[in-house]
Amino acid sequence: MVLAELGGKLRDSLRKLHTSSGRVTQTQLNAVLSDITRALIESDVNVKFVMTMRDNVKKNVEQLIEKDDDDDDDDDDDDDANEQRRQRRASNVSKLVQKAVVEELVRLLQPQRKAYVPRRGKPNVVLFVGLQGAGKTTTIAKYANYYQRRGWKTAMVCADTFRAGAFDQLKQNATKLRVPFYGSYTEADPVAIAEEGVDQFVQEHYEMIIVDTSGRHRQEAGLLEEMQEIAAAVRPDNTVLVMDATQGQAVNDQAMAFSNAVDVGSVIITKLDGHAKGGGALSAVAATESPIIFLGSGEHFDDLDPFNAESFVSKLLG
Ligand code: GDP
Repeated sequence: MVLAELGGKLRDSLRKLHTSSGRVTQTQLNAVLSDITRALIESDVNVKFVMTMRDNVKKNVEQLIEKDDDDDDDDDDDDDANEQRRQRRASNVSKLVQKAVVEELVRLLQPQRKAYVPRRGKPNVVLFVGLQGAGKTTTIAKYANYYQRRGWKTAMVCADTFRAGAFDQLKQNATKLRVPFYGSYTEADPVAIAEEGVDQFVQEHYEMIIVDTSGRHRQEAGLLEEMQEIAAAVRPDNTVLVMDATQGQAVNDQAMAFSNAVDVGSVIITKLDGHAKGGGALSAVAATESPIIFLGSGEHFDDLDPFNAESFVSKLLG
């Protein structure tokens, strides 16, 4: 299920509580929670998380739920006041369920760690890592564009010596954006290029120095070692992991592998436009324990949206 459909499904499920006949019973709550659970799992959200979330929501609203066999014993004189009280309670319960669902989803998307905030007037070295095809080079161009447009002195370094054409791709983007770049057609050592490029731009007082790295298809040891060596050489202020939303649950392993190898400080999820389920990438954030800073929503330089967990979830749930 794609993200937009997931939002609609969650809203529909929660609405069932609103239109109930004045009581929210255990059975109704269970039915709504299993609707929500199914929708999240169909969107590739991590199953373990979904189950914890369901239990937490239940715990939060349990004391307000009526038992199914809760006959109207104490309501013999079933008058208007009683009915109103029930309506009020039901509406409170549905609001509480919604609030609990929102809180749990925000918790998933917003780990404890705060995002690195770049500072003006000093060099901020930002290292981008991720598998080949995740959208790293495109995202770097978008990220450079984002800061350059806001007046930051921005530069890019291409430390991907593995993929033929990687430097040309970065160079093309940099030229279009009029952002200075550093790379080499002859030097084969990505660590040397990263170090030289960063040193040069630091000396020239660049404020945002973005380093592109190699990807490859799997999170094999060689790639992760290379990331560690580059990180040791350039000592980044922030390491950004780029993850592809179309990859479903598979990104969880990638996220774990990268965050075990280098200090992933932030995450950018790409390709949330189109038909990505997104839930897999969104739940992989929990594996990195690092916040999402942007979402990629297309192939153009402007298709990068700053991420805020609360507004993302409230938009999703309408
Ligand atoms: P890299 O190997 O990680 O550097 O990946 P690239 O930056 O070369 O991107 C791989 C493909 O994904 C390219 O065709 C990009 O245009 C595309 N791409 C990257 N980000 C997005 C995005 O947010 N949305 C869409 N639809 N495509 C993207």
